[in-house]
Amino acid sequence: MNTLNGCRQPPGPEGLSPRPEPAQDDGMLKFLPVLLALGYALVAYQLSVWRTHRMLDRTSHPLGDAGLLAEGARLARALDLPGLNIHVFEVEPVNGLAAPDGRIFLTEGFLRKYRAGEVTAKEMAAVIAHELGHVALGHSRRRMVDFTGANAVFVMLTALLSRFLPFIGIWIANLISGALMARMSRRDEFEADEYASALLVKAGIGTGPQKTLFAKLGGLTGHRTAVPAWLLSHPSTEDRIAAIEANEARWRLDQPV
Ligand SMILES: [Zn+2]
Repeated sequence: MNTLNGCRQPPGPEGLSPRPEPAQDDGMLKFLPVLLALGYALVAYQLSVWRTHRMLDRTSHPLGDAGLLAEGARLARALDLPGLNIHVFEVEPVNGLAAPDGRIFLTEGFLRKYRAGEVTAKEMAAVIAHELGHVALGHSRRRMVDFTGANAVFVMLTALLSRFLPFIGIWIANLISGALMARMSRRDEFEADEYASALLVKAGIGTGPQKTLFAKLGGLTGHRTAVPAWLLSHPSTEDRIAAIEANEARWRLDQPV
């Protein structure tokens, strides 16, 4: 086990050492709260991943819908994969998610919208492609690093700001680290969208369903919040559609090959 002071000898008993301890010790000790915060965040993150896995295992079943499985097979072919591991998460909120182990989940609430004809099979393929993007780009691992980093920023800022701004220092630190987390999370969403666009084009589905889904998404998930955009973990649907169209222009999708 490494000690915080590196290889320095521990100080002698009180009163026996004639020289005061050099200032570096204080410097190293200053980092102790940050190291503790990093350790705490890592453990908390692992615990939440473990809990999520257990919950997903208990409350999910393999996707059985033939239409959606056919769309999944198209995506798998475009990726040169034998098949995709798609499951149904038995909860109502309309969502898709990617487990850190690579499994893709569509919620029962989302499938209900699909069965009711509110969402097409190709739009569901766009959801699957987006979640595949999170898996392929290693976002769950990066989320762990982001979460741990943001937690360390929170601890450092709290220590710094509380000196000058008692009481509201911690509140400001929370706001800043929260905004930082949200910003990193929005970056992941844009990246997963870009991956999905490329995959959907390669699979012959195109970016159309991705955009129509986003246009519907606000109404489907049913939450319009008053929270400012820079604090939201997901970019606005308008921004996401604009980013897809910017990629289309960049990739010159409108031009015949
Ligand atoms: Zn996402």
